[in-house]
Amino acid sequence: MSYVVVGGGLAAAKAVEALRDEGYQGPVTLIGAETDRPYERPPLSKGLLLGTDEPDSPFVHSLAWYDEHHVDLRLGATVTAVDRSARVVRLAGGDEIAYERLLLATGSSPRPLPVPGGERALLLRTLADSHRISEAVTPATRLVVVGAGWIGLEVAAAMRSRGAQVTVVGATALPLQKVLGDEMASVFADLHRAHGTELRLGTHVTEVTATEVVLADGTRLPADVVVAGIGVTPNVGLATEAGLTVDNGVLVSSSLASSDPDIFAAGDIANIEHAFLGHRVRVEHWDVAIHTGQAAARAMLGREVAYDRLPYFFTDQYDLGMEYTGSAPLDAEVLVRGDVGAREFIAFWLVDGRVVAGMNVNIWDVADRIGDLIRSRAVIDRKRLTDPAVELGSVLG
Ligand SMILES: Cc1cc2nc3c(=O)[nH]c(=O)nc-3n(C[C@H](O)[C@H](O)[C@H](O)COP(=O)(O)OP(=O)(O)OC[C@H]3O[C@@H](n4cnc5c(N)ncnc54)[C@H](O)[C@@H]3O)c2cc1C
Repeated sequence: MSYVVVGGGLAAAKAVEALRDEGYQGPVTLIGAETDRPYERPPLSKGLLLGTDEPDSPFVHSLAWYDEHHVDLRLGATVTAVDRSARVVRLAGGDEIAYERLLLATGSSPRPLPVPGGERALLLRTLADSHRISEAVTPATRLVVVGAGWIGLEVAAAMRSRGAQVTVVGATALPLQKVLGDEMASVFADLHRAHGTELRLGTHVTEVTATEVVLADGTRLPADVVVAGIGVTPNVGLATEAGLTVDNGVLVSSSLASSDPDIFAAGDIANIEHAFLGHRVRVEHWDVAIHTGQAAARAMLGREVAYDRLPYFFTDQYDLGMEYTGSAPLDAEVLVRGDVGAREFIAFWLVDGRVVAGMNVNIWDVADRIGDLIRSRAVIDRKRLTDPAVELGSVLG
């Protein structure tokens, strides 16, 4: 059996690692369009922008690791087509690589800012992007960040911490409003304002000039540097052209298999039949890239896989660190244990009295307990849930 993994990101790296960890000794090829070997992206908007992380820290494995594990690492190589009948992938330049089982882990691309002058806005996806932004910003910089989602807020926090004058422009009335709902989104709005970042919310950018960002109401914000973080698009072109079923990502079963049983998908592009949630999820987060990459590798080896890991993500902004476990609709009830004002609390989202998601803010080592509450599907005693004196692990009694 020969395994080919397309995409040189985290999901791809974790998949080839899992193939070897599971004892597979045959040929493995990893093909990535970037010239850097696989790395983790979260530090690109945090420690690497702040200058607190070592430049080499984001890499998943050393270069030697790929040699030692006999992984044929093809960097700077773009796959242009998957030929399912010939069972080969074609590379730009004409090379063909045969596969018996194929994993697509092509990730996402940031959306460019779709306004006149939008190409002036820097985007953040790669190490090179992160270096470019880092070098462009000094304490004297007037930085405008377009987009009040995770990436935009993290860039704002890092650069404000480095002394830049920062304005964040967001389309909704609160940052992250569509992810967290009003109450918890306010925590992030307060956090950024408390650190001196200006928030321009409920508006949008109509133009970027050499010196300004123009808003819908005509306001002109002076800008030396503009960064846009307005979301990403999953890279599903290869899958679509290969005739796989694609609908908001590559549709995969709970064993990460696509509509072709020899082609699997993992990471940002995988729209997974989730074995616990009972519906499809496509999650653009670090933890999902790790675990779907590993799960896909096991499934490719013929192991039984039913992906049921709860969605999980984290962020670090200024002195706020948080983890979010599960997934909640926006109309879910929110209950809090701890002190929101002090930014040290756990928020729970409930549907029909059951916990469906939890976010721990500056409280650590509780994400697994939150996961247990979600997995129990038990109707929760609200008093015990919100009482910090009751151990989270014994809320269920
Ligand atoms: C700046 C930043 C900060 C983030 N912070 C967090 C965070 O704090 N918490 C969190 O949970 N998540 C975070 N994320 C999200 C997380 O990094 C992604 O979900 C994760 O990287 C997805 O991994 P992936 O392997 O699916 O795709 P990617 O990491 O996007 O890797 C895909 C790779 O495939 C390559 N590729 C694409 N097409 C081809 C082709 N045709 N041929 C060859 N190669 C190809 C691409 O060049 C890319 O290198 C962050 C993302 C960014 C950009």
